[in-house]
Amino acid sequence: MDDRRAPSPPDATRWPNRFAGLGPAFHTPMRGAGLPDPHWVATSDDAAAVLGWPADWWQRWPEALAVFSGNSTWEGMAPLASVYSGHQFGVWAGQLGDGRALMLGEVDTPQGAMELQLKGAGRTPYSRMGDGRAVLRSSIREFLCSEAMHHLGIPTSRGLCLTGSSLPVRRERVETAAVVTRVAPSFLRFGHFEHFYHHDRHEELRTLAEHAIAHHFPACRQAEQPVLALLGEVTERTARLIAQWQAVGFCHGVMNTDNMSLLGLTIDYGPFGFLDVFDPQHICNHSDEGGLYAYARQPKVGWWNLHAFAQALVPLVGQGQGTPEDVAAIRAALARYETVFAQALAAQMRAKLGLREAREGDQDLVNDWLRLLETQKVDYTIAMRRLCDFSPRDAGPVRDVFMDREAFDAWAARYAERLAAEHSIDTERQATMRRANPRVVLRNHLAETAIQRAEQGDFGEVQRLLAVLSRPFDDDSGTAADAGFPPDWAQQLSVSCSS
Ligand code: AMP
Ligand code: MG
Repeated sequence: MDDRRAPSPPDATRWPNRFAGLGPAFHTPMRGAGLPDPHWVATSDDAAAVLGWPADWWQRWPEALAVFSGNSTWEGMAPLASVYSGHQFGVWAGQLGDGRALMLGEVDTPQGAMELQLKGAGRTPYSRMGDGRAVLRSSIREFLCSEAMHHLGIPTSRGLCLTGSSLPVRRERVETAAVVTRVAPSFLRFGHFEHFYHHDRHEELRTLAEHAIAHHFPACRQAEQPVLALLGEVTERTARLIAQWQAVGFCHGVMNTDNMSLLGLTIDYGPFGFLDVFDPQHICNHSDEGGLYAYARQPKVGWWNLHAFAQALVPLVGQGQGTPEDVAAIRAALARYETVFAQALAAQMRAKLGLREAREGDQDLVNDWLRLLETQKVDYTIAMRRLCDFSPRDAGPVRDVFMDREAFDAWAARYAERLAAEHSIDTERQATMRRANPRVVLRNHLAETAIQRAEQGDFGEVQRLLAVLSRPFDDDSGTAADAGFPPDWAQQLSVSCSS
């Protein structure tokens, strides 16, 4: 690789790296194997703004293309790959790690430090059989969905930029390599903790927990047992995150513990998908034959994953002996999951139905609505968006998406009654519902069109979709097709772990 070290952009950063200070047990310092003859595919102005960077940073700063294709580093950057382990599809998978990710360093922002991570810049000591690369197809999906989720108001790593090259990469077919740069306050995973627990390295486990608390959960320091407070906080964040996934109809696809963010962010976008028709059994990942991570199972999987995380913290609770009192305290922290998840989901669904107050019977109203969508195979995003135009006097276009109009009418009568009970004002409710029910989500076929054009060298559709997904709630965001029913060919699309 090219060993040039360009001077850091004057108005950028000195690239601190707090995780690097933890020592060699946690990571391997290394340079990337960059993309040969790289080019830009896309950049997100909005993600750049998080770093305090100007929109034209990628043109303005020398070597930006070389840095974000893994070919060079700016002065002060000390890239590293971290080690973690995890449970994959419910089974202990042993050591994994950043097999194709490299942390470049941090940028200090008014909102705190942000880590920059390259994905796809070559092999690391944790690559196992992998080639360290990421293909353009999956990188476009990760880049677009990261930004889309952020604009939907869902915690996520961000997509700063995307570079590509003609370097061939073999998957089911030969594709080309890309590097996506993602940004998050931390990419720590449940699996980082599991790694040191399962390898009986409790000193490192303690160091890691202290690091996480000091830098990412400072409020936990006040607690009598900061580690228990950490577990409680991670539990709550995970519960709230998954409630948001369920409400918007997002399926992650690979909810392995190594893909679970300690900060409760959506990370590691792979074979994710948004529901088209409302099908609780929907499996977005073609490789997930048993449907372990089907849409309706996500809340349970989050709970299971938190248990794996909690298990890893046992040596740090009390005297580390796992006494009955310690176990009870751990259980109590985990128990917050169920309540927080239920409350968060109920609040989300109330907002989506435009209900200001929480009233008895709301849960039934929501459940019956979802059952109606399920039995009549109705598109989730479209039905919810059309419901924004509902009024008790005129149901509006939402009625047309149901085959069995009478079944809809029966539910609509109950809904109208419920709205009347809180003196809901149509115009007000409709406006707030439009902020809770996106018009456009990144459906597979939208991503696929952008991917096909990009594979022909035209990146315009990636940038266009990025702009559309940046305003998912606006009536004028995107074309009618962007907000419309998926075309028939969308059913043939299959998304797998291959990336
Ligand atoms: P994932 O389920 O995609 O998040 O990946 C699981 C593990 O496999 C992680 O440790 C990744 O870093 C690693 N991995 C996935 N794809 C590759 C690849 N092409 N090269 C090296 N490591 C990979
Ligand atoms: Mg992963």
